[in-house]
Amino acid sequence: MVSINIQNLEKHYGKVKALHGLNLEIDDGEFIVLVGPSGCGKSTLLRCVAGLNPISGGDILFDGTPVGHLPPQERDLSMVFQNYALYPHLTVAQNLAFGLKVRKTAAEEIEKRVKWAADILAITPYLDRRPRALSGGQRQRVAMGRAMVKHSNAFLFDEPLSNLDAQLRVQMRKEIRALQQRIGVTSIYVTHDQVEAMTMGDRIVVMKDGRIEQVGSPAELYTAP
Ligand code: ADP
Ligand code: ADP
Repeated sequence: MVSINIQNLEKHYGKVKALHGLNLEIDDGEFIVLVGPSGCGKSTLLRCVAGLNPISGGDILFDGTPVGHLPPQERDLSMVFQNYALYPHLTVAQNLAFGLKVRKTAAEEIEKRVKWAADILAITPYLDRRPRALSGGQRQRVAMGRAMVKHSNAFLFDEPLSNLDAQLRVQMRKEIRALQQRIGVTSIYVTHDQVEAMTMGDRIVVMKDGRIEQVGSPAELYTAP
């Protein structure tokens, strides 16, 4: 878990300026939501933090250490997407264990972490099932579990709930938020849904045209003129 400090961050795609010198400090353990219309630069910012997009200027610091030019694997982050990215041929347990096996984590440690995540996410009864035998909400939990078991520096969420129906979306918002508070991991969550932003974020970053327009807690933004 880390604090994330974004300093004068620039991102250009050729002649398109997607981010214009962004500054943002995210505390260790904070849940930040990036919200704004399509094309405002939310995904670009998230991908720059993840190291999936090379940055054009400025830097990103984790606990004060510049990481803006490090490859993704050295940043040690977990991403959660809307399409779950689960392996269909592996069981839930194997899906949870996969990333740890790749890293050659000891078998006992893998088992401990898989049990821990499955317990918190209430998916223990489904550990031997394959993803196709799960509901949408259960699949989303497995995707969360895959992020949790890595014990990574931070979670990056890219519109993870946009494929779910309205009722499940409301439930999963609460679950993700409760989970994040329980394990205390620094999180950046991208959504274009203002209600989602207001119900989930410790602080909300409103973006527009590659710039940060407003930053504040839900209460602060709600009462802003
Ligand atoms: P959002 O996530 O808020 O919808 P994006 O970060 O995807 O916004 O896009 C920000 C801007 O950067 C948009 O103008 C978009 O067209 C542009 N953009 C995003 N990705 C690329 C890319 N790979 N190549 C060129 N332009 C891009
Ligand atoms: P493999 O045969 O590839 O090891 P397994 O299905 O036995 O696949 O398990 C994959 C990983 O998931 C193992 O590392 C194991 O520790 C973990 N695992 C499997 N079942 C459980 C379970 N019921 N509880 C906790 N961890 C489990």
